[in-house]
Formats: sequence, structure tokens, C-alpha cells
Amino acid sequence: MRTPIIAGNWKMFKTVPEAKAFIEEIKGKAEVAGVESVICAPFTNLPALMEAVKGTSIKIGAQNLHFEDDGAYTGEISGVMLKDLGVHYVIIGHSERRAYFAESDEIVNKKVFAAFKHGITPIVCVGEKLEEREADQTKAVCKVQTEGALKGLTAEQAAQVVIAYEPIWAIGTGKSSTAQDANEVISYIRELVKGLYGENVANAVRIQYGGSVKPENVVEYMGQSDIDGALVGGASLQPTSYVQLVEGAK
Ligand code: PEP
Repeated sequence: MRTPIIAGNWKMFKTVPEAKAFIEEIKGKAEVAGVESVICAPFTNLPALMEAVKGTSIKIGAQNLHFEDDGAYTGEISGVMLKDLGVHYVIIGHSERRAYFAESDEIVNKKVFAAFKHGITPIVCVGEKLEEREADQTKAVCKVQTEGALKGLTAEQAAQVVIAYEPIWAIGTGKSSTAQDANEVISYIRELVKGLYGENVANAVRIQYGGSVKPENVVEYMGQSDIDGALVGGASLQPTSYVQLVEGAK
């Protein structure tokens, strides 16, 4: 069986003292047997967070990495540096990075390889824009992005990837996809993985839903056959609601 995974995406929020205080508040609460609990924080918070979660089951993720190990890439952070901190996860290809930082499927794929090279599990985001949904292109977009992200991975690696299906029109808008619609697209993505790697990998790969998930709707998403958790922005910023999200995933 697949272990559900709730991942908070803090985006560009929280100073180091705020991040530390958050962990103090969720310790022992956002630690539910059978649910993986992950906080993906800004780079500046990562050393303090790695220290803060010691002795807990809470895992820490970054929100991006560069695909090279080092070099003249001003402002970038590499997998070598994240591995040095002991970070467990890294979000790759979030729609905000695709939109504002021109991340293509090729770049996403290189970043996925860089994460594996350094033993960090990628959380790869895929999802359609509103106009693509309206043009009935949701599955076509998810196909290109999923196949692009996984290209060249071994079956063993593909089975470890976490995929986050995030319809862009639902991110930070309060307009969430219905649980049934999200499940339909996620089942389709699982079928794509099956086509590429076979049934065992498809059954192992975890696929989250993301887009205005909150404590009030998380249980409904988690009740769907193919949804293995959630990638959550806004509702992951408050300790109480983050704890409720993790509890809702059990
Ligand atoms: C996200 O940042 O990936 C996200 C889904 O945000 P929100 O939960 O705020 O829609």
C-alpha cells in the first residue's frame, strides 16, 4: 500500500524564527502513524528546520534546486548543497516556477535527475491552466509534463517519485477541483506511469492533489481511490490547519 503524503509548500513565506516556532507547535501533532508529513520551506529556513525536526517523524523539503552540482549560477542552490543539509524532498516544476522562471519540461527532467543523484526525493508538479482545461486539454497537458519529467528514469527511480497533480486554476484561488475530477486525472496519470513502467511501478508511485486543499476538504480528496495525499500552499502556513491536514490524511 502507498503511504499518504501531506506536503506543505510554504512558498516565499516565513523567517527562521517563524519557521522554528511552527515546528515547535506541530511536534507530536503533525506526526500521525501511516502518514508522511513534509514541510517544503524557503532555502534560508532549511538548516534551522533540519535541526528543529530532529527526533520527530516530520520531514523537510526544498522548493527548487539547480540541475548542476556547482558552477557560475548566481543565486542558485544545488542538490549537493541540499544533500549536505540532509533535506529529504524537493519540489520540482511547480507551476509558479514554470510560469515565472521559465522552467520547461526539459529543465524539470534535469532537476529530477539531479535530485536522484543526491538521494533527494522529487515532488514533481504537473497540471493544466484554466484555458487548457476549458479546451479539454487537461489530460494532454498532464501527459506531456509527466512523460517529460520522468524521461530516462529507471523503474526503481520512477517508483519513488511523488507526482503532484495541481490544476493551475486551483492554486491559491480557493477554487478547488472536485475530488472526483481530481481523482479522474490522477488515475489517468497513474495509467501513464503504467504505460511507461508497468503495473508495479504504477501501483507504487504516489500522486498527490494540490490546489486550495484545506482541513475542510482534505478528507474528501483522501477518500478517492488514486489520491495519495496533498501538496498544500496557503493552508500549510498555520500550524493548526497543517496538523488538521495531516490528521485528515490518515
Ligand atoms: C501550491 O502551492 O502548490 C498550492 C497548491 O497552493 P494552495 O494550496 O494555496 O492552492
